[in-house]
Amino acid sequence: MNLPAHQYFLLVVPSCLILIGSVFIAGHFLFKAPRFLLWMGIAYILPSIALGIQSLMTNQQLTMTAPWVGTLYLTGAWATAHGIALKAKSSSNLKISLLLILVGVFTLGYFAYVDENLWLRILTINIITILLQVMIIPSVYAFFKRSNILNKMLCISYFVVVFYSVTRFLITLFYLKNVESISISSSNWWLMILALNILLCIWCAILIVATTIKELFTTLNNDRYKDVLTGLYNRRGFLEKVNALALDENIEKFYLIMCDIDYFKKINDTWGHIVGDEILKAIADVLKESLRPHDILARFGGEEFIILLSCPNDYVAMNLADRIRNNIQNKKYTKYDITVTASFGLAEVFREVDFMETLQLADQRLYSAKNNGRNRVCYR
Ligand code: GH3
Ligand code: MG
Ligand code: MG
Repeated sequence: MNLPAHQYFLLVVPSCLILIGSVFIAGHFLFKAPRFLLWMGIAYILPSIALGIQSLMTNQQLTMTAPWVGTLYLTGAWATAHGIALKAKSSSNLKISLLLILVGVFTLGYFAYVDENLWLRILTINIITILLQVMIIPSVYAFFKRSNILNKMLCISYFVVVFYSVTRFLITLFYLKNVESISISSSNWWLMILALNILLCIWCAILIVATTIKELFTTLNNDRYKDVLTGLYNRRGFLEKVNALALDENIEKFYLIMCDIDYFKKINDTWGHIVGDEILKAIADVLKESLRPHDILARFGGEEFIILLSCPNDYVAMNLADRIRNNIQNKKYTKYDITVTASFGLAEVFREVDFMETLQLADQRLYSAKNNGRNRVCYR
């Protein structure tokens, strides 16, 4: 290709985007990062290859390669939509997407080899791209409403990308009818598209990396602070939460409840560990349902749970513990309708007393409850 040297400079943009896409794909495979990252990698690489080769082409060459290059663009647009849909815990419609891509490629072939028309080819790519992008907007919007700030920013950026596609389509429709008469790859229009592409792509890449890192940290923290079986905090998570709360000065009184399932070893011995696990999960649910969102609940050991609750006085705390005890007793567990009871130790938390001492006190009272016949709350 005998092109002016500055034309090759245009390859900087697609090369950077291919590099970013490759890093995403490598991240997916090397660090087992989510599949979203794999699709975003593909979404960066395919259109960038098309952009790169087109930057070096004359209009004549663009015509000859139109369906192939179009396939790269359209598959890239679908990969973007599919990746974002995965992030939104949804998925793109594979059959409709494939159909749209096929219709696009055949239309491009027609306007390249049968009735040569560059303007209609550009319009075709734009329309199909918009359709592929628009299909997932309802699930992205639903995700937007329920997600954190970083994911919200990613959703907004996706809406901006769709808006950009629509604007590009309208500009082509109304102002680029004479596109045949200019050399498109060396036109100002092409330079503007490249500039906007790199800006949008780099902005989105930053957000993609940020949301992935955030997700990674959430997973790591969950592994550190949560119990795998019940999804409740584990001992470490509970103590961390209690520290972070620093026993809030605005709350008058706190109470600690230790709860231990009665004769759980016997349940395991009779029904097996799998049934035992099922019961532990169900009891965790009963506890969750019996508490308010700001109470802190954790699985403290095997069949032992702990609760930190804010309460105005002993009477209310005692009643709450007894209500939880009742809720556990009144339920039938698993398909075998097993009944389970639990014992409770209750202690008031005083800011001036070491938290570990209060923990010990609640534990002693729990054992008093056990020694006094189980299935009861002990506060003395
Ligand atoms: P008590 O009324 O005195 O508390 O009697 P217990 O049988 O509940 O107490 P013990 O400490 O003798 O036994 C606790 C049992 O809890 C033993 C262990 O097999 C069971 N356990 C601990 N963790 C798990 C778990 O994750 N899954 C299941 N299925 N069982 C567990
Ligand atoms: Mg027990
Ligand atoms: Mg125990």
